[in-house]
Amino acid sequence: RKKWNRMVGVLRELEEGCGTEIGRLRQVVDAMAVEMHAGLASEGGSKLKMLLTYIDTLPDGCEEGVYYSLDLGGTNFRVLRVHLGGQRSMILNKKVNRQPIPLELMTGTSEELFDFIALTLKQLVQSESSESEFRLDERMVLGVTFSFPVKQASASSGTLIKWTKGFDIEDMVGKDFAESLQHALINRGLNLRVAALIRDISTSASSVHLSAPYPQPPYSSSVNDTVGTLALGHYDDEDTVAAVIIGTGTNACYVERIDAIIKCQGLLTNSGGMGFEKMISGMYLGDIVRRVLLRMALESDIFGVATSKLSVPFALRTPLMVTMHEDESPDLREVARIFKEVFQISDVPLKVRKLVVRVCDVITRRAARLAAAGIVGILKKIGRDGSSGIAGGRSKSGGESTSKMKRTVVAVEGSLYSNYTMFRDYLHEAVSEILGEEIAPYVVLKESKDGSGIGAALLAASYSSVR
Ligand code: ADP
Repeated sequence: RKKWNRMVGVLRELEEGCGTEIGRLRQVVDAMAVEMHAGLASEGGSKLKMLLTYIDTLPDGCEEGVYYSLDLGGTNFRVLRVHLGGQRSMILNKKVNRQPIPLELMTGTSEELFDFIALTLKQLVQSESSESEFRLDERMVLGVTFSFPVKQASASSGTLIKWTKGFDIEDMVGKDFAESLQHALINRGLNLRVAALIRDISTSASSVHLSAPYPQPPYSSSVNDTVGTLALGHYDDEDTVAAVIIGTGTNACYVERIDAIIKCQGLLTNSGGMGFEKMISGMYLGDIVRRVLLRMALESDIFGVATSKLSVPFALRTPLMVTMHEDESPDLREVARIFKEVFQISDVPLKVRKLVVRVCDVITRRAARLAAAGIVGILKKIGRDGSSGIAGGRSKSGGESTSKMKRTVVAVEGSLYSNYTMFRDYLHEAVSEILGEEIAPYVVLKESKDGSGIGAALLAASYSSVR
């Protein structure tokens, strides 16, 4: 009885600490908009990193023809070809070739890596040439997603700051990625132009990266992914103004006005580390639950901690936490199974299993509601939340009032949103709650799939058509 009461005590404390009542969420919305404002002002102006994408043209649906994209962002890389039909959402044909990067190429020379990439692209191009009238010597356009720290300085250049994710090709650091790739393509006889997806500083799109500086999730989706998601979203629906990915990590990107980037130079905030991403993303949720369970175990001595794996960091992966949360069997069989398999704890009483599900619910609900507040924060920053958007860098007359609220679409991608129904439901509920019933119907969250691959090809298309 005493042990039980202690466990319930921990749960109550958790529920209180994880409270996300509407007033608190509104504070997060405001803080997000303010931090975005400060982050735009200067590098290091806020812990919220606001990275410019150098993209000022989004696909509008009129793109036509065959385009390629290359997605290099981790241990896998993908090349993709899309045939666009010239009408919104008309993708006539799509072919993807995905493969792991051979280990020795990840630490070899840049020449070897780029030649391997060029060769893979050549195979994709040639596979088409044999199928249709397209020829190898025809001028083709390539969009590139390169998910490593890159310093973008102009329309066609991005120098590699450092390698991450197991890559270590020294001769590439400080060099221009697009240029090296272009060389390799020419050497392989490919008339494939690396499209300038990046422009000079006077752009109208910028992106935010919602994470505290350290530690980064090792395989987080990159900012680039969100740009692809935004491009695909805009291709499908021109009212799309932002894209959010909630996967291993959390990040977002949105369309900003150039004057808002310049206007707020000089502002600095010092709000300290927020750790926002860490309360939301797949990388962390399972481990937060594990920590709560460990605390319960320590306080009540119910699981016999000493012999269990409860104290092993990241022992509980997020998908398993989700399985426990979604366990609908009357005796919570899955919870019992996971406790046994993951923590080596057997014979968990049913009422304790119920408590565990409750912990998963509290953590997930908080995550989803905070993510919702982050999304509304972005909308507020661009004056699409129905308020007049004081933090939006808008001119006084420029703010959107309730009466002229525009339809606003946010493209959302990532496993948490796409594969975790309760997370999605909580998120939708909170977005509506924050916006209120008058504004909520104008804001549409649209699930997006594979934005990073298709999006880069679409950007290549829209860029080549305006040049
Ligand atoms: P990325 O690594 O590009 O962000 P995803 O969007 O697939 O890729 O996100 C992967 C993250 O989602 C992992 O942290 C994983 O723990 C979590 N995850 C995977 N499957 C599920 C699921 N069914 N429900 C909730 N989270 C999941």
